[in-house]
Amino acid sequence: MRFNVVALTGGIGSGKSTVANVFSELGINIIDADSIAREIVRPGSPALQKIIARYSRSILTEEGKLNRAMLRNIIFQSCKEKNWLDDLLHPLINMRTEQLKKLTSSPYIIWVVPLLIENGLQHLADRVLVIDTEEIIQLQRTQRRDKISFNQVEKILSVQISRTQRLAYANDVIENNGTIEQMMERVAELHQSYLRLAAIG
Ligand code: ADP
Repeated sequence: MRFNVVALTGGIGSGKSTVANVFSELGINIIDADSIAREIVRPGSPALQKIIARYSRSILTEEGKLNRAMLRNIIFQSCKEKNWLDDLLHPLINMRTEQLKKLTSSPYIIWVVPLLIENGLQHLADRVLVIDTEEIIQLQRTQRRDKISFNQVEKILSVQISRTQRLAYANDVIENNGTIEQMMERVAELHQSYLRLAAIG
């Protein structure tokens, strides 16, 4: 199979968006699973209509958008609701992702998928790039970025797989415990190796 898609994954606050931005500055197209997930439930979308039908309009914010925090709470508390939502959204997300992959033009694509391994999507990529960051640094950076409590970040971390489990699927790893400059050097190195793989085809 032709080398084309690098899935970029990592835990919350590990640095996925930051790393993806560096690839983007190098001219690489980025497909972001979270953006697609948001687009699928935009106001007026069929998926949002189904969510409203199940949970009533109280699942919307005042502006009529999906209240993601409320939905997150519901699925944290109930496996049944999580499964219902996954069954609704995953096929739509997968379809849109495949469409976008076909529209890209760079030598390879970075596909940012926070829950790649959790959702068993690794087979859809040609390589898996894991951003691995020490948990305490993930917590500190996420708290600083989102202004949320230590407990809330810990709760999110607790539903994600462990660093060891994630690393078991990695073809490549970026250790993002150091400076931004160190991370950028590693990205440049990987970019060269991906360009070589893309050239071989
Ligand atoms: P993710 O997308 O994995 O949740 P982000 O890319 O948003 O993580 O990074 C989390 C936070 O940490 C952001 O505020 C980002 O600017 C910061 N950050 C990422 N990498 C580094 C680094 N090497 N040094 C310092 N801060 C970093």
